[in-house]
Amino acid sequence: MNKQIITRFPPSPTGYLHVGGARTALFNWLYARHTQGKFVLRIEDTDVARSTQASTDAILEALEWLGIDWDEGPYFQSQRSDIYSEYIEKLLSTGLAYYCTCSRDTLDAMRQKAMETGGKPKYDGTCRNKGLSKTDDAVVRFKAPLTGSTIIKDVVKGNIVIPNAEMDDFIIQRSDGVSTYNLAVVVDDITMAINTVIRGDDHVNNTPKQILLYQALNAPLPTFGHVPMVLGKDRARLSKRHGAMSVTAYRDMGYLPDAFLNYLVRLGWSYGDQEFFTKDELIDKFTLENIGRSPGIFDTDKLLALNAEHIRKSPPVAVARHLIPFLKQRDCEADANEFTQAVILTLSVRSKTLAEMADGALFYYASKITYDAKAAKKFLKPAIAEPLNLLIKALEALDVFDEPSLENAFKTVMETAGMKLGKIAQPVRVALTGKTVSPGIFEMIVVLGQDTVIERLKDAAKFIENRQT
Ligand code: GLU
Repeated sequence: MNKQIITRFPPSPTGYLHVGGARTALFNWLYARHTQGKFVLRIEDTDVARSTQASTDAILEALEWLGIDWDEGPYFQSQRSDIYSEYIEKLLSTGLAYYCTCSRDTLDAMRQKAMETGGKPKYDGTCRNKGLSKTDDAVVRFKAPLTGSTIIKDVVKGNIVIPNAEMDDFIIQRSDGVSTYNLAVVVDDITMAINTVIRGDDHVNNTPKQILLYQALNAPLPTFGHVPMVLGKDRARLSKRHGAMSVTAYRDMGYLPDAFLNYLVRLGWSYGDQEFFTKDELIDKFTLENIGRSPGIFDTDKLLALNAEHIRKSPPVAVARHLIPFLKQRDCEADANEFTQAVILTLSVRSKTLAEMADGALFYYASKITYDAKAAKKFLKPAIAEPLNLLIKALEALDVFDEPSLENAFKTVMETAGMKLGKIAQPVRVALTGKTVSPGIFEMIVVLGQDTVIERLKDAAKFIENRQT
């Protein structure tokens, strides 16, 4: 039987969830979902000075928005120090770690000497075979092998070979008893049974040390994959000057989470030349083999185009849920009901973001229409009063309020008034929306409904009348 894939996402809560982190989370989540495996969330909050609860909350909020759900956790490294100590004890008792009491001055001198002789500044093993016991100022060092080599079998980068002679007897527990980063990660990954580690290649330098720890602890190695960083259009590492970095900023700008996921996945994974994917399709198609070796370039224009496509292609019921907060922000109390879904259908071809869609949707919910001054001046003129009244009568007489019957009613009015549709469509549009740009006239009228349309046309007729006097 094939073993169940268990992946993880271990963010450090020192800021919001950024684009690169979200992509790492997504790859691990997709792979777990694709294989019907498990996805574990772990908060790496050992850097007490920089970790905050606000960051943890922000990261969880961003993951929830993206729909990246976890099967286990969140675990917090800050609550696991006993487990780390237990493993450090194990390494000490098997002779694979040792106490070191070298002072800062000794270490500085060691580094100085190494630099003068052109060597790599690394610990020279002074305490390695002294068999020292624990003291207040002692750190614990890992006894790294002196010969041979360590191989990272990276599913993205291929084999990476590191001669062990280049490695150091690195510290696994500081003198204050706190374990170091690499030790904590390995103990976590072992005890959480993580067997697949996909992460940014900024971590590739840690991996050989981590492999040595796995070996020392007699634990099977996970599959490693180091994904190239996300770059800006200028090919520099993605940073604030390339635009918003935080995932929730994209939510607030009106991106659909599935569009954002679709864009993120394409920053390092491909499936032929397909660009558009639904979430289910991604789960179905995601494999590690298709992770690319070259860095993804973050391009906000492409993201925007993809968002527009997702807005167009998503079922209105899915869009509605995400549109509501944008309507609320604009003081419009709407529900994700059938009315809102119908509203969305008329706007989805013309909205690149949910913010744009909300702006365009407000007239549907308004209790009174405020006319754009220029539009009213140009289109709500006395000459249109008569045809408008004819139209009101024709619409009042309709039993069925659908597009074909509306087209007929308009046709009859046009004929009686001796006017072309173009001449009355704009005044009607201004009467119903207050503006000169809106969704298609008939579809919009159907969605607004007979009563509202008649009421708004009557208001416009009154406006014209008052204007005459
Ligand atoms: N906590 C690390 C980070 O946020 C991730 C470490 C890992 O994936 O092993 O970059």
